[in-house]
Amino acid sequence: MSASNMFLDQLTGSFSTPAAENPTVAMIEAAYRHHAIAARYINCEVQPEDLREAVHGARAMGWIGFNCSIPHKVAVIEHLDQLTDAARLIGAVNCVAIREGELIGENTDGKGFLASLQTVTDPVGKKVLVLGAGGAARAIAIELALAGAAHITVANRNDRGAKLAEHVDAKTPASAEFLQWFGDVWAPDGTDIVVNATPVGLYPDVDACPAFDFQSLSASTVVADVIPNPPRTAFLKSAGVRGCRTLDGLGMLVNQGIAGIAFWTGMQIDAAPMRAALSDIFAV
Ligand code: NDP
Repeated sequence: MSASNMFLDQLTGSFSTPAAENPTVAMIEAAYRHHAIAARYINCEVQPEDLREAVHGARAMGWIGFNCSIPHKVAVIEHLDQLTDAARLIGAVNCVAIREGELIGENTDGKGFLASLQTVTDPVGKKVLVLGAGGAARAIAIELALAGAAHITVANRNDRGAKLAEHVDAKTPASAEFLQWFGDVWAPDGTDIVVNATPVGLYPDVDACPAFDFQSLSASTVVADVIPNPPRTAFLKSAGVRGCRTLDGLGMLVNQGIAGIAFWTGMQIDAAPMRAALSDIFAV
Protein backbone atom coordinates (compact mmCIF):
# COMPACT_ATOMS: atom_id res chain seq x y z
CA MET A 1 0.00 0.00 0.00
CA SER A 2 1.37 3.42 -0.86
CA ALA A 3 1.75 6.02 1.90
CA SER A 4 -0.86 8.18 0.19
CA ASN A 5 -3.72 5.69 0.65
CA MET A 6 -2.65 3.80 3.78
CA PHE A 7 -5.58 5.18 5.80
CA LEU A 8 -8.20 4.94 3.06
CA ASP A 9 -9.64 1.50 2.35
CA GLN A 10 -11.88 0.76 -0.61
CA LEU A 11 -15.49 0.31 0.46
CA THR A 12 -17.98 -2.40 -0.45
CA GLY A 13 -20.99 -3.78 1.40
CA SER A 14 -24.53 -5.04 1.33
CA PHE A 15 -27.94 -3.36 1.50
CA SER A 16 -30.81 -5.51 2.76
CA THR A 17 -33.38 -5.96 5.49
CA PRO A 18 -33.18 -8.01 7.62
CA ALA A 19 -29.40 -7.82 7.41
CA ALA A 20 -28.29 -9.22 10.76
CA GLU A 21 -28.29 -12.91 9.74
CA ASN A 22 -26.41 -12.39 6.46
CA PRO A 23 -22.96 -14.07 6.72
CA THR A 24 -21.58 -12.55 3.48
CA VAL A 25 -19.62 -9.89 5.39
CA ALA A 26 -17.58 -12.54 7.24
CA MET A 27 -16.88 -14.39 4.00
CA ILE A 28 -15.82 -11.34 1.97
CA GLU A 29 -13.70 -9.80 4.73
CA ALA A 30 -11.91 -13.16 5.13
CA ALA A 31 -11.05 -12.99 1.43
CA TYR A 32 -9.84 -9.38 1.72
CA ARG A 33 -7.62 -10.31 4.69
CA HIS A 34 -6.28 -13.44 2.98
CA HIS A 35 -5.28 -11.50 -0.14
CA ALA A 36 -4.20 -8.35 1.79
CA ILE A 37 -6.68 -6.27 -0.19
CA ALA A 38 -7.15 -2.84 1.41
CA ALA A 39 -10.94 -2.97 1.31
CA ARG A 40 -13.82 -3.31 3.76
CA TYR A 41 -17.30 -4.86 3.41
CA ILE A 42 -20.03 -3.26 5.51
CA ASN A 43 -23.33 -5.03 6.16
CA CYS A 44 -26.07 -2.35 6.13
CA GLU A 45 -29.70 -2.57 7.27
CA VAL A 46 -31.55 -0.57 4.58
CA GLN A 47 -35.32 -0.14 4.47
CA PRO A 48 -37.08 -0.06 1.07
CA GLU A 49 -37.90 3.67 1.42
CA ASP A 50 -34.19 4.43 2.03
CA LEU A 51 -32.75 2.42 -0.87
CA ARG A 52 -32.36 5.38 -3.22
CA GLU A 53 -30.40 7.39 -0.64
CA ALA A 54 -28.28 4.36 0.28
CA VAL A 55 -27.31 3.85 -3.38
CA HIS A 56 -26.55 7.54 -3.89
CA GLY A 57 -24.68 7.61 -0.57
CA ALA A 58 -22.47 4.74 -1.66
CA ARG A 59 -21.63 6.60 -4.85
CA ALA A 60 -21.03 9.86 -2.96
CA MET A 61 -18.63 8.09 -0.56
CA GLY A 62 -16.67 6.50 -3.39
CA TRP A 63 -17.71 2.88 -2.70
CA ILE A 64 -16.49 0.55 -5.47
CA GLY A 65 -19.60 -1.62 -5.26
CA PHE A 66 -22.22 -3.35 -3.16
CA ASN A 67 -24.54 -6.33 -2.96
CA CYS A 68 -28.31 -6.03 -2.76
CA SER A 69 -30.27 -8.73 -1.02
CA ILE A 70 -33.90 -9.17 0.02
CA PRO A 71 -36.02 -7.08 -0.64
CA HIS A 72 -34.00 -4.79 -2.95
CA LYS A 73 -32.95 -7.01 -5.89
CA VAL A 74 -35.60 -5.68 -8.29
CA ALA A 75 -36.19 -2.24 -6.74
CA VAL A 76 -32.52 -1.26 -7.08
CA ILE A 77 -32.68 -1.42 -10.88
CA GLU A 78 -34.35 2.00 -11.25
CA HIS A 79 -31.38 3.62 -9.47
CA LEU A 80 -28.74 2.13 -11.81
CA ASP A 81 -27.17 3.41 -15.04
CA GLN A 82 -26.53 0.06 -16.77
CA LEU A 83 -27.31 -3.64 -16.48
CA THR A 84 -25.28 -6.62 -17.70
CA ASP A 85 -27.07 -8.84 -20.23
CA ALA A 86 -27.61 -11.58 -17.62
CA ALA A 87 -29.05 -9.15 -15.05
CA ARG A 88 -31.44 -7.79 -17.69
CA LEU A 89 -32.57 -11.31 -18.64
CA ILE A 90 -32.97 -12.33 -14.99
CA GLY A 91 -34.73 -9.06 -14.15
CA ALA A 92 -32.94 -8.68 -10.81
CA VAL A 93 -29.63 -7.30 -9.54
CA ASN A 94 -27.73 -8.51 -6.49
CA CYS A 95 -24.36 -6.96 -7.23
CA VAL A 96 -23.56 -3.39 -8.29
CA ALA A 97 -20.18 -1.99 -9.37
CA ILE A 98 -19.54 1.76 -9.22
CA ARG A 99 -17.07 2.77 -11.91
CA GLU A 100 -16.31 6.48 -12.39
CA GLY A 101 -19.68 7.30 -10.87
CA GLU A 102 -21.59 4.86 -13.11
CA LEU A 103 -23.72 2.25 -11.37
CA ILE A 104 -23.63 -1.11 -13.19
CA GLY A 105 -25.98 -3.91 -12.11
CA GLU A 106 -25.06 -7.61 -12.32
CA ASN A 107 -26.65 -10.79 -10.99
CA THR A 108 -24.22 -13.25 -9.38
CA ASP A 109 -26.83 -15.66 -7.91
CA GLY A 110 -26.92 -17.90 -10.97
CA LYS A 111 -23.22 -17.42 -11.76
CA GLY A 112 -22.32 -18.50 -8.22
CA PHE A 113 -24.49 -21.58 -8.58
CA LEU A 114 -23.05 -22.40 -12.00
CA ALA A 115 -19.43 -22.12 -10.79
CA SER A 116 -20.25 -24.36 -7.83
CA LEU A 117 -22.00 -26.90 -10.09
CA GLN A 118 -19.05 -26.96 -12.47
CA THR A 119 -16.89 -28.38 -9.65
CA VAL A 120 -18.93 -31.62 -9.93
CA THR A 121 -20.47 -31.66 -13.43
CA ASP A 122 -20.63 -29.78 -16.71
CA PRO A 123 -24.20 -28.54 -17.43
CA VAL A 124 -23.67 -28.53 -21.22
CA GLY A 125 -26.33 -30.68 -22.89
CA LYS A 126 -27.90 -31.65 -19.55
CA LYS A 127 -31.55 -31.95 -18.48
CA VAL A 128 -32.19 -29.93 -15.32
CA LEU A 129 -35.10 -29.83 -12.87
CA VAL A 130 -35.37 -26.60 -10.87
CA LEU A 131 -37.66 -26.64 -7.81
CA GLY A 132 -39.21 -23.20 -7.25
CA ALA A 133 -39.63 -20.13 -9.43
CA GLY A 134 -38.50 -17.25 -7.19
CA GLY A 135 -35.40 -15.08 -7.50
CA ALA A 136 -32.83 -17.83 -6.96
CA ALA A 137 -34.64 -20.26 -9.29
CA ARG A 138 -34.89 -17.63 -12.00
CA ALA A 139 -31.19 -16.75 -11.86
CA ILE A 140 -30.16 -20.43 -11.80
CA ALA A 141 -32.47 -21.47 -14.66
CA ILE A 142 -31.29 -18.62 -16.88
CA GLU A 143 -27.55 -19.02 -16.16
CA LEU A 144 -27.71 -22.80 -16.69
CA ALA A 145 -29.57 -22.25 -19.97
CA LEU A 146 -27.00 -19.64 -21.08
CA ALA A 147 -24.20 -22.05 -20.08
CA GLY A 148 -25.51 -24.72 -22.47
CA ALA A 149 -27.98 -26.86 -20.51
CA ALA A 150 -30.28 -28.52 -23.08
CA HIS A 151 -33.57 -28.54 -21.19
CA ILE A 152 -34.90 -26.94 -18.01
CA THR A 153 -38.01 -28.15 -16.19
CA VAL A 154 -39.39 -25.64 -13.67
CA ALA A 155 -41.54 -27.16 -10.91
CA ASN A 156 -43.65 -24.70 -8.94
CA ARG A 157 -46.93 -24.50 -7.06
CA ASN A 158 -48.33 -21.67 -9.19
CA ASP A 159 -48.00 -20.02 -12.59
CA ARG A 160 -44.80 -18.16 -11.66
CA GLY A 161 -43.23 -21.45 -12.77
CA ALA A 162 -45.04 -21.38 -16.12
CA LYS A 163 -43.88 -17.79 -16.71
CA LEU A 164 -40.27 -18.67 -15.88
CA ALA A 165 -40.34 -21.72 -18.19
CA GLU A 166 -41.80 -19.59 -21.02
CA HIS A 167 -39.12 -16.93 -20.44
CA VAL A 168 -36.24 -19.44 -20.52
CA ASP A 169 -37.70 -21.15 -23.58
CA ALA A 170 -38.12 -17.85 -25.45
CA LYS A 171 -34.97 -15.97 -24.42
CA THR A 172 -32.22 -18.60 -24.14
CA PRO A 173 -30.93 -21.43 -26.35
CA ALA A 174 -32.38 -24.07 -23.95
CA SER A 175 -35.87 -25.54 -24.19
CA ALA A 176 -37.97 -25.34 -21.05
CA GLU A 177 -41.24 -26.63 -19.63
CA PHE A 178 -43.38 -26.13 -16.55
CA LEU A 179 -44.25 -28.92 -14.12
CA GLN A 180 -47.18 -28.15 -11.82
CA TRP A 181 -46.13 -29.00 -8.25
CA PHE A 182 -48.91 -30.90 -6.43
CA GLY A 183 -47.98 -33.35 -3.68
CA ASP A 184 -44.60 -34.99 -4.24
CA VAL A 185 -42.98 -33.60 -7.38
CA TRP A 186 -40.71 -35.97 -9.33
CA ALA A 187 -37.67 -35.79 -11.61
CA PRO A 188 -38.77 -36.42 -15.23
CA ASP A 189 -37.05 -39.34 -17.01
CA GLY A 190 -33.49 -38.55 -18.03
CA THR A 191 -33.01 -35.69 -15.53
CA ASP A 192 -29.27 -35.15 -14.93
CA ILE A 193 -29.37 -32.34 -12.36
CA VAL A 194 -31.98 -31.43 -9.70
CA VAL A 195 -31.77 -28.10 -7.85
CA ASN A 196 -33.80 -27.15 -4.80
CA ALA A 197 -34.23 -23.38 -5.25
CA THR A 198 -36.96 -23.01 -2.63
CA PRO A 199 -36.29 -21.82 0.94
CA VAL A 200 -37.56 -25.16 2.33
CA GLY A 201 -34.98 -26.46 4.82
CA LEU A 202 -33.51 -23.06 5.70
CA TYR A 203 -32.66 -22.40 9.37
CA PRO A 204 -34.55 -22.54 11.72
CA ASP A 205 -36.80 -25.03 9.88
CA VAL A 206 -33.86 -27.38 9.41
CA ASP A 207 -35.79 -30.67 9.19
CA ALA A 208 -38.12 -29.41 6.45
CA CYS A 209 -37.76 -31.05 3.02
CA PRO A 210 -39.41 -30.10 -0.30
CA ALA A 211 -42.23 -32.50 -1.22
CA PHE A 212 -40.26 -34.67 -3.63
CA ASP A 213 -40.38 -38.27 -4.85
CA PHE A 214 -36.81 -39.43 -4.21
CA GLN A 215 -37.58 -42.73 -6.02
CA SER A 216 -37.52 -40.70 -9.26
CA LEU A 217 -33.75 -40.09 -8.82
CA SER A 218 -31.11 -42.36 -10.28
CA ALA A 219 -27.65 -42.67 -8.73
CA SER A 220 -26.18 -40.66 -11.62
CA THR A 221 -28.34 -37.57 -10.87
CA VAL A 222 -26.50 -34.62 -9.33
CA VAL A 223 -28.66 -33.05 -6.61
CA ALA A 224 -27.99 -29.50 -5.44
CA ASP A 225 -29.49 -27.24 -2.79
CA VAL A 226 -29.33 -23.45 -2.58
CA ILE A 227 -29.79 -23.46 1.21
CA PRO A 228 -26.53 -22.31 2.83
CA ASN A 229 -27.66 -22.80 6.45
CA PRO A 230 -27.57 -25.65 7.30
CA PRO A 231 -25.40 -26.83 4.37
CA ARG A 232 -26.42 -30.48 4.81
CA THR A 233 -30.18 -30.22 4.30
CA ALA A 234 -32.77 -32.96 4.69
CA PHE A 235 -33.17 -32.78 0.88
CA LEU A 236 -29.48 -33.51 0.27
CA LYS A 237 -29.41 -36.24 2.92
CA SER A 238 -32.30 -38.08 1.21
CA ALA A 239 -30.66 -37.69 -2.21
CA GLY A 240 -27.41 -39.03 -0.73
CA VAL A 241 -29.28 -42.13 0.47
CA ARG A 242 -30.32 -42.74 -3.18
CA GLY A 243 -26.61 -42.69 -4.10
CA CYS A 244 -26.72 -39.26 -5.77
CA ARG A 245 -23.80 -36.84 -5.79
CA THR A 246 -24.83 -33.78 -3.77
CA LEU A 247 -23.83 -30.12 -3.78
CA ASP A 248 -24.58 -27.76 -0.89
CA GLY A 249 -25.53 -24.07 -0.94
CA LEU A 250 -22.22 -22.91 0.58
CA GLY A 251 -20.50 -23.42 -2.77
CA MET A 252 -23.03 -21.09 -4.42
CA LEU A 253 -22.46 -18.45 -1.73
CA VAL A 254 -18.66 -18.67 -1.96
CA ASN A 255 -18.71 -18.45 -5.75
CA GLN A 256 -21.01 -15.43 -5.58
CA GLY A 257 -18.40 -13.81 -3.37
CA ILE A 258 -15.69 -14.61 -5.90
CA ALA A 259 -17.84 -13.21 -8.74
CA GLY A 260 -18.70 -10.07 -6.73
CA ILE A 261 -15.09 -9.26 -5.82
CA ALA A 262 -14.05 -9.85 -9.45
CA PHE A 263 -16.84 -7.48 -10.61
CA TRP A 264 -15.73 -4.76 -8.15
CA THR A 265 -11.95 -5.11 -8.25
CA GLY A 266 -11.04 -7.29 -11.25
CA MET A 267 -9.22 -9.65 -8.84
CA GLN A 268 -9.62 -13.46 -8.80
CA ILE A 269 -9.99 -14.63 -5.20
CA ASP A 270 -9.31 -18.06 -3.64
CA ALA A 271 -12.41 -19.97 -2.53
CA ALA A 272 -10.68 -21.62 0.44
CA PRO A 273 -10.59 -18.72 2.97
CA MET A 274 -14.20 -17.84 2.19
CA ARG A 275 -15.38 -21.44 2.55
CA ALA A 276 -13.42 -21.69 5.82
CA ALA A 277 -15.07 -18.52 7.19
CA LEU A 278 -18.53 -19.91 6.40
CA SER A 279 -17.69 -23.35 7.73
CA ASP A 280 -16.65 -21.73 11.06
CA ILE A 281 -19.96 -19.86 11.20
CA PHE A 282 -22.11 -22.87 10.32
CA ALA A 283 -19.90 -25.25 12.37
CA VAL A 284 -19.47 -27.79 9.55
P1 NDP B 1 -38.33 -16.38 -3.31
O1 NDP B 1 -39.23 -16.09 -2.18
O2 NDP B 1 -38.11 -15.39 -4.39
O3 NDP B 1 -38.82 -17.74 -4.02
C1 NDP B 1 -39.08 -18.91 -3.31
C2 NDP B 1 -39.66 -19.98 -4.25
O4 NDP B 1 -39.80 -21.17 -3.48
C3 NDP B 1 -41.04 -19.63 -4.82
O5 NDP B 1 -41.16 -20.07 -6.13
C4 NDP B 1 -41.97 -20.42 -3.91
O6 NDP B 1 -43.12 -20.90 -4.53
C5 NDP B 1 -41.13 -21.64 -3.59
N1 NDP B 1 -41.54 -22.24 -2.32
C6 NDP B 1 -41.50 -21.66 -1.09
N2 NDP B 1 -41.97 -22.54 -0.17
C7 NDP B 1 -42.31 -23.67 -0.85
C8 NDP B 1 -42.85 -24.93 -0.46
N3 NDP B 1 -43.13 -25.22 0.83
N4 NDP B 1 -43.08 -25.86 -1.40
C9 NDP B 1 -42.80 -25.59 -2.70
N5 NDP B 1 -42.29 -24.41 -3.14
C10 NDP B 1 -42.05 -23.47 -2.22
O7 NDP B 1 -36.94 -16.79 -2.62
P2 NDP B 1 -35.48 -16.73 -3.29
O8 NDP B 1 -35.55 -17.40 -4.61
O9 NDP B 1 -34.92 -15.37 -3.20
O10 NDP B 1 -34.64 -17.63 -2.26
C11 NDP B 1 -34.84 -19.02 -2.18
C12 NDP B 1 -33.76 -19.61 -1.31
O11 NDP B 1 -32.52 -19.47 -1.97
C13 NDP B 1 -33.58 -18.94 0.06
O12 NDP B 1 -33.61 -19.94 1.04
C14 NDP B 1 -32.21 -18.34 0.03
O13 NDP B 1 -31.54 -18.50 1.26
C15 NDP B 1 -31.52 -19.18 -1.02
N6 NDP B 1 -30.45 -18.48 -1.69
C16 NDP B 1 -29.19 -18.99 -1.55
C17 NDP B 1 -28.13 -18.36 -2.13
C18 NDP B 1 -26.77 -18.93 -1.95
O14 NDP B 1 -25.81 -18.26 -2.34
N7 NDP B 1 -26.63 -20.14 -1.44
C19 NDP B 1 -28.32 -17.13 -2.94
C20 NDP B 1 -29.68 -16.70 -3.07
C21 NDP B 1 -30.70 -17.36 -2.44
P3 NDP B 1 -44.39 -19.99 -4.95
O15 NDP B 1 -43.95 -19.29 -6.21
O16 NDP B 1 -45.46 -20.99 -5.15
O17 NDP B 1 -44.61 -19.06 -3.79
